[in-house]
Amino acid sequence: MTTLVLIITNSLILVKPKSVQAQTIPVTASWRQASFPVENFQAYTSGYGYRMHPISGDTRFHRGLDLAAPLGSYVRSWWSGQVVSLSDHTGCGTMITIQSGKWTHIYCHLMGSVENTAKGTVLVDRSGGIVLWQGQNVPAGARIARVGMTGRTTGPHLHWELKYNGNHIDPADVLRQMFAQRI
Ligand SMILES: [Zn+2]
Repeated sequence: MTTLVLIITNSLILVKPKSVQAQTIPVTASWRQASFPVENFQAYTSGYGYRMHPISGDTRFHRGLDLAAPLGSYVRSWWSGQVVSLSDHTGCGTMITIQSGKWTHIYCHLMGSVENTAKGTVLVDRSGGIVLWQGQNVPAGARIARVGMTGRTTGPHLHWELKYNGNHIDPADVLRQMFAQRI
């Protein structure tokens, strides 16, 4: 066995060999309130880490996890939190950033566009029934957007990033912990 199980206070921590996992994710008492971030999920098409970029051909670090789903599938907020940023002018396309305590969750290549109005900044996807305001609080599992093709992408998917204390985390590690608690 290469996996050690340590019991520290009341937390259970799985320690993997360093070659398998360079980063460890924070121990959370419960992942039960977390939501899988997309409906009609089909496949993980690109993981976290170094890869050849499908468009530029450059080798670069992929800071998120790509989840393929049919165009127009609803994206759900992974955790309850506040919409802290909306954008639609980078390679990420139409993009939402939500803050939940020390966690930041980022969603890219969404449908719709960002409008600056007298009342504030808002992501609008009218045919999907989405109106999401910057500064708005959203519950876990809320439909916040739909899978689109905005920004640099070769097919419909959700590019999903997670940060803890500002540092990127492999979202697959978090999903594995969420599924481990689902019995
Ligand atoms: Zn991606």
